[in-house]
Amino acid sequence: MKNTEHNLSRRSINPATRLVLGGRDPFANHGFVNPPVHHVSTVLYPTAEDFLARRAKYVYGRRGTPTSEALENALRELEGPECAGVALLPSGLAAISTALLSILHAGDHLLITDSVYLPTRKFADGVLKRYAIESSYYDPLIGSGIAGLMRSNTRAVFVEAPGSLSFEVQDVPAIAAAAHAKGAVVIMDNTWASPLYFRAFDKGVDLSIQAATKYVGGHSDLMLGTVSANAATWERLKETVYLMGLCVGPDDIYLALRGLRTLGVRLAQHYQSGLKVARWLQQRPEIARVLHPALASCPGNATWQRDFSGASGLVSIVFKPVAGLAVHAFLNELGLFGIGASWGGFESLAIPFDCSSIRTATTWVPEGPTVRLHIGLEDPDDLIRDLELGLAALNACRTMSQDDYAVAAAARRSRSSK
Ligand SMILES: *Cc1c(COP(=O)(O)O)cnc(C)c1O
Repeated sequence: MKNTEHNLSRRSINPATRLVLGGRDPFANHGFVNPPVHHVSTVLYPTAEDFLARRAKYVYGRRGTPTSEALENALRELEGPECAGVALLPSGLAAISTALLSILHAGDHLLITDSVYLPTRKFADGVLKRYAIESSYYDPLIGSGIAGLMRSNTRAVFVEAPGSLSFEVQDVPAIAAAAHAKGAVVIMDNTWASPLYFRAFDKGVDLSIQAATKYVGGHSDLMLGTVSANAATWERLKETVYLMGLCVGPDDIYLALRGLRTLGVRLAQHYQSGLKVARWLQQRPEIARVLHPALASCPGNATWQRDFSGASGLVSIVFKPVAGLAVHAFLNELGLFGIGASWGGFESLAIPFDCSSIRTATTWVPEGPTVRLHIGLEDPDDLIRDLELGLAALNACRTMSQDDYAVAAAARRSRSSK
């Protein structure tokens, strides 16, 4: 049948095509291209006997609906044949915490990359610790050296490649090989690359997480997380999600499914524009280093070249030594970049950050202040012109006193509120 079946073998279908086909069955839905959005709690049974035997495909809203299945199926097809199932969670952080809870027991030890997303670290040091699960942190560039940190009770190794502020690219295959040799599970935060640019299961990952809030959604209008599991981890994950009572509303699932259809073309543009901006920043005299996995100046660049098929739209700037005030002037001058958390949407963002106070296994000492950009879908030449104005404001600020700066900032605030 047209559109639901085709003569190409399933395995030969490329990811961009999978994004278009996944989770859709038009002729089961009156020929409509997209699946319906089911708002569901109760499921009715025709008789008492049917209810007692739970004779129904769907038993209760929280246990899955055609809407949640559509997104799960689309993501499973994207991940490839080793993916046994996908769980949907109400945020990326919920996906991380649930994946960890599905694997770990009291008394276990967990290894986490020192470059990890900060709330993941806080979950481990806060909640997991209370349940007698000990976490320790390792150098993101450790590679096969992680073997030396494995203990008899190390049940899981958490990787994130690259780190979402400092962009060290981890050698996931080497870490996975060392972890598996000791019977540990490998859990990855794959939000940055998505399954399009990093084939987590082919590289030895057992549980692969995405904050679908970011690129999958792509429009800064939803919160959602996903965990994709292989056959060894899927049943435990599914049970944990069920018993924690976690589920996602159908409208957010639908937005994610809609975002997924264009993920391929959006990511390709974020990749191209991000690299163009990164290369432009590299030749600016105000900047000591630009961190982007595709640049040789980024730690782990060779690993990125070997293991990844693309990059997303994040770029970090390490300024040469300059007053923090001047960096605020830079950020405040940007008109096309919003100042705010998150990334992966169509619009560009810029935030100041400081990793140095977070690290515990490594030291991160940048030459000067640091800023992370998310390069959105605007014309990159316009973004570059905006950054140029921002850098002019930074340079002007070098000669300003604190008082001059306060006056200029107040003038800007009153302009922007009009
Ligand atoms: C944003 C983010 C998360 C958390 O996602 P939320 O949906 O905001 O909870 C997890 N990991 C990384 C790398 C992120 O950037």
